[in-house]
This record gives sequence, structure tokens and C-alpha cells, in this order.
Amino acid sequence: RTVYVNGSYLPEEDAKVSVFDRGFLFADGVYEVSTVLEGRLIDNQAHLVRLQRSLDELQMTSPVSMDDIVTIQNELIKQNGLKEGGLYLQITRGAADRDFAFPKDATPSLVMFTQEKNLLNSPAAERGLSVISVPDIRWQRRDIKTVGLLAPALAKQAAVVAGADDAWMYEDGFVTEGSSNNAYIISKEGKIITRHLGNEILHGITRRAVLSLANEADMEVEERPFTLDEVRNAAEAFVTSATTFVTPVVSFDGEKIGDGKPGALTKRLRQLYIEQALNS
Ligand code: PLP
Repeated sequence: RTVYVNGSYLPEEDAKVSVFDRGFLFADGVYEVSTVLEGRLIDNQAHLVRLQRSLDELQMTSPVSMDDIVTIQNELIKQNGLKEGGLYLQITRGAADRDFAFPKDATPSLVMFTQEKNLLNSPAAERGLSVISVPDIRWQRRDIKTVGLLAPALAKQAAVVAGADDAWMYEDGFVTEGSSNNAYIISKEGKIITRHLGNEILHGITRRAVLSLANEADMEVEERPFTLDEVRNAAEAFVTSATTFVTPVVSFDGEKIGDGKPGALTKRLRQLYIEQALNS
């Protein structure tokens, strides 16, 4: 696999970053994961807008323009012959002698790699996910897509140890989001409920697209916090993310959601999202 590091396209074993990189020492960096379908980036512009916002919030600058980032993304997709999968992009504040305050003269570091993956044909989407609840122990700016991912890694690992597929994090009795996705329930009345935007969750690019599709399809959407009890009583549940699209959740803390099978509205949303992505 060829990866991109600060101006060079290199075999992955030759790609290196400094031990003093602040991404490594402080998780002082931001990232994006864009989806590739049929060799094309999906909704990439929205990912780059969010990237710029994450950079701004951390008073960081990209080492290259957003236009150049797109050029590099497409070159990397081409060099790897990637048809379906994800493209990971990371910008850190760069390498400097270890000090908490920002260095005055560090050059930000840009790294990209591709991950080939079957996204359209997903056994997990056919079957539906089992999810457990875990307390949300993350920091208070989850709207910034930083590489500080230890809390969600612990959440996901807790799920794996429990024999589940993923974890939904909660705070004050309300679900925030999944370890690496936005979380939704559909009430028995057919209302799609997902947490409102704020600093408590990442503003998912897929979330935005899916809510817009739901509106167009005249499905009712409510953006508000929902409780763990509401999940247990929901008719359907699902998650969204760039690389998983819309994926049903069929059990929560060991109990079935609805009839324990992927729900009809969830399946419809997945289909609508994939159709739009393929036709974009
Ligand atoms: N929430 C979290 C915590 C995430 O890590 C992600 C990223 O995958 C998402 C939500 C979904 O965001 P997107 O739809 O932009 O991939």
C-alpha cells in the first residue's frame, strides 16, 4: 500500500513521522475519514469543511490548501487502485521539543492512507448490530474530530469483551453517540430520534445526509437527547457513519430492540443513502 506523508507518496513501510510529533505525544491533531465508492470520494466537500472547522477550533493550520488536499486524496486513491473503502486523513501540529504550549515554528504534518473494505455488501448491516451501553468518559469538545480516541477505543473494547459489536455512550442517562458513529432510535410511533448537535457529539457528515433524506421521504425526525429506557422501548435503532452508512442495531445491553431484526425504516434509509451516494 502506498501512503502519503508530508509531500511524498511512499510504500507504507518507508513512511515515517517524528517521535516528537505532537500527534504522537499529545494527540494534538485532527482527522477525517471519507468513503470511497466506485473509486470516487463520497460527500468529501462536507468532510473538508468539518476538517477546516476542527483545525480552526484548535488554532491549527493545514500545511496545504483544501484544493491540494483533494488532489492528494485522488492521487492516493489512484495509486492504490482503491475502488471501495475509506480514506484516512490526519493533520497534526507537527514536531517540536515536548512542551504543552504550542510551538512557534512547527510545521503541521499531513498523513493519508487508504483502507480497502467491502462497504456495500455488509454482513453486519444484514444481521444488525448488538450494542452495549457504557458511560461517556470523553472530553467536552466531542464536536472536534481529534485523534484523541482512547475513550471510544475503551468503549469499543468493552463491547468486544462483552461479545457485542459496538458501544453507545451515555451521559446523565442520555445517549450521546456510538464509539465511532451517531446513534438513532425510531419510536413505536415511527419518529426518528437522534441527539441534537452540540459539543457533546461529533457532527456526522452521514448524519446530515441521512436526516435530509428522511425529511425528503416525509419521515418524522426529532433532534433531542434520548434515554437508555427509550432505546429499550424503541421499535428500531441504527447508527450512521461515513464507512458504515446506515447500519441497524438489533439488540441493546442483551435485550432485543423491536423484534430483534433490522427494522423496515432503517433498511429504507440505508437504501436511500446508498442510492444517493452512488448517484452523487
Ligand atoms: N461520532 C463519532 C464519535 C465518530 O467517530 C464518527 C465518525 O466516524 C461519527 C460520529 C460519524 O461521523 P461521519 O458520519 O462524519 O463519519
